[in-house]
This record gives sequence, structure tokens and C-alpha cells, in this order.
Amino acid sequence: MKLQVQPKLIIHGGAGSSLHGKGGVEAVRRALYAVIEEVYSLLVTGATATEAVVRGCQMLEDDARFNAGTGSVLQSDGQIRMSSSLMDGTLGRFSGVINISRVKNPIELALFLQNSPDRVLSDYGSAELARELQVPSYNGLTDLRLHEWIQERQDNFKRTMAGVVAEPELVESSNAGRGTIGVVALDTFGRLAAGTSTGGKGFERIGRVSDSAMPAGNYATGYAAVSCTGIGEDIIDECLAAKIVVRVTDGMSLKDAMERSFTEAQKNQRDLGAIALDATGAISWGKTSEIILAAYHDGETIGDTLEWNNSELIGYC
Ligand code: ASP
Repeated sequence: MKLQVQPKLIIHGGAGSSLHGKGGVEAVRRALYAVIEEVYSLLVTGATATEAVVRGCQMLEDDARFNAGTGSVLQSDGQIRMSSSLMDGTLGRFSGVINISRVKNPIELALFLQNSPDRVLSDYGSAELARELQVPSYNGLTDLRLHEWIQERQDNFKRTMAGVVAEPELVESSNAGRGTIGVVALDTFGRLAAGTSTGGKGFERIGRVSDSAMPAGNYATGYAAVSCTGIGEDIIDECLAAKIVVRVTDGMSLKDAMERSFTEAQKNQRDLGAIALDATGAISWGKTSEIILAAYHDGETIGDTLEWNNSELIGYC
């Protein structure tokens, strides 16, 4: 089969402070590469960008290491509330669920809502939808996240966010960070899509709304697609995903749009990261935090950013 466009793929498992140990880096690398390999092969065999993004998000939601789906962090009241969104760049269509509980894969509800007249549902409406679709009830709580919450409760919820990935050493050392997931794909037809899914910041007030189900945190057009991670309030204040995508859509190169947007974010002392693709196949990532856990497939090889903590704000290939 002759490909019309070389597919591209970039995924993330959050941004924050450095992983505790080398074991953590290797485990995260293996987890991210498994997703890249499966999802990239789907793209090569003709899956649409949206299909690829949904599959990638499902796999990352199912990995208890990351803060989305199974392994989501707990909010201040000890409950899991997840948010997820999907944007099809070709259709220019955003859909998502906010603060949903007791489902395995919030991204599947976001996918369903792509074809609904009401495309973003909050907690009560998402629960009603899950019931209507007969989505089985599922508890994504893990021992590590429960342990992390109990420790944090003893400390009176002083941390601003939960651990970047669920690592036993991280829980012991109470090291801050986060592990939201995101997938951005360019398919063989040149179509772009972005998906993001999260358990939130961790320990937040009930009703707090994450950027992950907002265009600030997840956005795509026919020109570019972006998924963000980091402190949601910072991402919302920068309107980061939409800002980068609109800059590219208006004619700026992806590299310039990322550089400018991350320079602004750093100046404003934000704590965040993002992954991005454009319609020409350019791949980019950026962070103001210490690390961003991203991996990508550029058509030839798989690369990652796990040990990329240089002074540059953005990376590009
Ligand atoms: N952005 C997410 C939130 O604030 C957290 C994260 O990216 O890890 O809800």
C-alpha cells in the first residue's frame, strides 16, 4: 500500500519533576513504546487519526502507572473523578467528559460524544450517559494511589499535585509531579487529532475542572494538534493548546509557535508541558517543568524525551 502521507505520532504520560530512579525511567519508556508500536502500526494500516488517538488513550488509561483511567489520583475527598477530551482536527470538533467516576475509559465517552449534539458533559451528565450506554461500572483505584492519598491526608494536603507516575519510591519520598496522558496523531490522509485524559491534579477540591477536557488543554485543526499536561490552572491561563494550534493555523511554523508559546509560559512562571504535531509532519514537545514524559514515532524510528531535561524549552524533529 502506498501511503499518501507518512503518519506521525506523539504521546505523553505527564510532566513534572524528575522520575525517582532509572528503574522508573526504563519502566515508563517500555510502557510508552508499547503504545507507540501498537498505535503507529494502526496508523500505517490506514486507521484515522481519531481512531489512533482513541486507541492510544485507552492503552494509557489502562496502564496504572499513569494518572488517567486505572491509576487515577484521588481528589481531596478520596474519590476518583476523571476528565477526558477528543478533538478531530479535520472536522474541527471537540468533545469530552468532565469529572466522571466509575468508568474504565473516559476517552470512549468522549468518542461517543463526537457525534452528539451535546458534546461536553459534566459529572452528572457523564454518569447518565455511561448508564445509558450500559458502560460497566469500574473502579480504577490502585493501592499506590490510595497510599499516596493517605500520606497526603496526614500531611493536610500540602502538595499542589500528585505523583507524575505511580512509583512506589515516589510515594515513599512524596515527590511532586503528575501523569496525565495524551496522544496526538497524523494519519495517512493527512488528518490530525488530539486526545487527553486525566485523573486531575490530585487532592483537589470537589468540582474543580481540569484543563484536559477544555480546548486550553487539548485542541486540533487541520493544521496542528496539541495535548497538554501540567498544572491545569496554568494551562488554562495560557490557553496553551488552542494558542499553539491557532498560531500554526494562522501561518506560523510549529517550531516558532511552540517556542513563542513556551517562552510566554515561562515568563509567566507556569508549570506545564505539551506535545504537538502539524500537518506537514513536524513533531514537537515543550515544557517549563523539569521533565515531560513523551515518546514519538517519526516514520522511521521511535524516540523519547524521558532524559531530555536540557535548558531548551522545546524539542523538535
Ligand atoms: N493538567 C491536569 C490537570 O490539571 C493534570 C496533569 O496534567 O497531570 O487536571
